[in-house]
Amino acid sequence: MENPKSLRFLSLFDKKVVLLQHYSTKMRIKGLLQIIVCLCFLWLLLPMEMMAEGKDFVVVIDAGHGGKDPGAVGKKAQEKNINLDVALELGRLIKNNCDDVRVVYTRNTDVFISLDRRAKIANDAKADLFISIHTNALPKGRIARGTETYTLGMARADDNLEVAKRENSVILVEDDYKERYAGFNPKSSESYIMFEFMQDKHMEQSVSLARLIQGQFKSHAGRIDKGVHQAGFLVLRDTSMPSVLVELGFISTPDEETYMSSKKGVAALSRSIYNAFMAYKKSHAVAGATSSQASSDNSLGMKVVQTTPEPTPAKKEVKTQENATQRPVFKVQLLSTSTKLSAGSSKLKGVKASCYEENGMYKYTTGETEDYDEILRLKRQMEKTFKGAFIVAFRGGKKMDVQEAIRESRNKK
Ligand SMILES: [Zn+2]
Repeated sequence: MENPKSLRFLSLFDKKVVLLQHYSTKMRIKGLLQIIVCLCFLWLLLPMEMMAEGKDFVVVIDAGHGGKDPGAVGKKAQEKNINLDVALELGRLIKNNCDDVRVVYTRNTDVFISLDRRAKIANDAKADLFISIHTNALPKGRIARGTETYTLGMARADDNLEVAKRENSVILVEDDYKERYAGFNPKSSESYIMFEFMQDKHMEQSVSLARLIQGQFKSHAGRIDKGVHQAGFLVLRDTSMPSVLVELGFISTPDEETYMSSKKGVAALSRSIYNAFMAYKKSHAVAGATSSQASSDNSLGMKVVQTTPEPTPAKKEVKTQENATQRPVFKVQLLSTSTKLSAGSSKLKGVKASCYEENGMYKYTTGETEDYDEILRLKRQMEKTFKGAFIVAFRGGKKMDVQEAIRESRNKK
């Protein structure tokens, strides 16, 4: 016979054991859940990390106009549709051929996107490159043919200013454009003064891509090359990466309108931009890898070539005997352009300037002294007229690292 007391005790003991087992199972489940949560978290993190590593380069493709804003209008075609066709085809080519590039569109359908929103999309995506695609037009009775690629800068020629005015006038369809663009009037020439001395730190890269695009339009698509220009485009002003604005051709010229509306035309134009993009990416990846700053940026060194206003010589200076004995001289750099300025150009505001060439750009400087404090004073004075003026240093006529020049100048005092 069993003792009911012991039975009760046993059952209590059993209950405890059961409870304990239950508790430990619960603990085990909890632990397991924690591990699963951790694993899930890692699993979520991993692809992101891999994506970040796999997609080193971000390109934003901006099809101009859209929705209520047709852009320039031809006999049959509308600019917004040509731009979108070429943009999507360009994006498709990049996506299909470059695993390491992320393509971001500012629009991939027929919708209206404001100019400042387009720039914001590019900045938020931390893009390495911004390519804005447009179609040119001239008033009735005027005929022109060919492609042009623009970078941000001063609108020297009236024609360039006209293109910028037309492209910027998009903002007029926005109700609050006066507030959004701080009183900028796209139709008034005065509004463009702000672009005159804008120091674009990405200018060299932008110009280099623009030249590649123009070269491809000519050699691959057989278009007339109307060259690389600078003008004040709002959409380029607000992007913080190398940026270009492409004008594919003249919608107001019937044969160009037909070409740009054709499958063949879209294919050839987008392939040209794609070829140029690939060449740009390749050359800048190499330049980055050999740069001394490469380690501070990503593995491909893509961002390295985004030069800061402080000049760093592209080539390491080889010190010859003669070179070493020469002391560094300082100058103030006022502006740089892709085309040479005429003698006594009004852009130099009457300042006596000399010019040197670097990476295909014409750079204008003033002053020349071995005394760093003196050049600092001159720089401050020049900044009043030339916003973003900065100090450069040379030894024996060759550009040198400005920090090294400052050190030498201080030591010899
Ligand atoms: Zn346009």
